[in-house]
Amino acid sequence: MIAIQYLEPSPGIQTLTKAEVTARLRAAFDRLPIDIVIIGWDLPPALVAACAHETQRANAQLYLWQPLLTGSNAVQPRTAWRASGLTDEPVSGHHNFPEFTFLCPNRPAVQAAVMEQLRQAVRHGPYQGVFLDRLRYPSPLAQPDRDLACFCADCRRAATFDLLEVQRQVRTLLATPDRLCAALRLLFKQDADLPAELVGLQQFLDFRTQSITRSVAVAAQIARKEKLAVGLDCFSPSLTRAVGQDLNALDAHCDWIKIMTYGHAFGPAGLPYELSNLARWLIECRGCNEAATVNEVAQVAHLPLPPTLSEWRARGLSAEALSHEVRLAQAAGVKTLLAGIELVDLEGVTCLTEAQISADLRALRAAQPAGLALSWDLWRMPLDRLDLVRTIWNGASMLQSK
Ligand SMILES: [Zn+2]
Repeated sequence: MIAIQYLEPSPGIQTLTKAEVTARLRAAFDRLPIDIVIIGWDLPPALVAACAHETQRANAQLYLWQPLLTGSNAVQPRTAWRASGLTDEPVSGHHNFPEFTFLCPNRPAVQAAVMEQLRQAVRHGPYQGVFLDRLRYPSPLAQPDRDLACFCADCRRAATFDLLEVQRQVRTLLATPDRLCAALRLLFKQDADLPAELVGLQQFLDFRTQSITRSVAVAAQIARKEKLAVGLDCFSPSLTRAVGQDLNALDAHCDWIKIMTYGHAFGPAGLPYELSNLARWLIECRGCNEAATVNEVAQVAHLPLPPTLSEWRARGLSAEALSHEVRLAQAAGVKTLLAGIELVDLEGVTCLTEAQISADLRALRAAQPAGLALSWDLWRMPLDRLDLVRTIWNGASMLQSK
């Protein structure tokens, strides 16, 4: 099973013609047996129609790519709706982009606005499925003592424990050097046997995943009502808990889950980006040296990581680390799992090579997920990388079926 993401909204995308959009999609179908085409939100109707026509011609399924808990054209991320951090400030989005500014799922006004937007988007569309993205809290890893969220009044009402008290406890934990690592470890993994001082933090992290799952369940129901299949865009398993995603619980509400096993992307959700943000914060707030901190982050995240931050940026994670991520999602009980791979070069974000992509594809393939999701965007993807996918991914499956 191969899915491909196409036409993420940007000023450039709005100026494309139907002919251009069709030609690109046809070139992709000519190279690769694609099962699912996932097209962006807020697209001009003519481009949606062109994609629908071409996808149907290739006997594939068309999904709407829909952000759930971030701002968009239809839902402005007003300050009062944003997730509220540990310091009671609304958490800013990545570069303040509305599409990376996260809204609190426990705010009734947010729920009403995002679900109504989804209802409008899927109604009467030419889609067979919806691909829900941005179903999470803002990542706290760049500055946990500020960005861990949400502690708003509606979350206080929704929580079955004293959230205000937990907020005080977590502030203290993150400011206490010999408690910091134990607290950070909980952002990556649940622990059954905890000292009393960490119980509140774990309760809070469980509450966050329940809040996200509840929102996704409502969104999935809206899609089902329109007889649409549901796919979810989730963080790579090592990072899911930090952003409030529980793969096992989410799996009950969808047909498949894509995990963002981006081992080389230096942008939101990219493994080296998120983890190096945490390493930098640790170095800054404690003044520790880089080697010790990198080792510490590898330990709290349970991941084999290169020994220096410059290597994380230059080479990213190893192919083995990516197959480890796929196995984590399988162990979490995801029934139909798509491994996401970044195939687009973006200055300052990715620097990909054919050898690295090939190694990653082989390692992902070896872990045997149900399929592959090609990210982010076919529009910017060098087409010879689709040939590489066909050779390694589909070539291997043809051999296997013989
Ligand atoms: Zn909240």
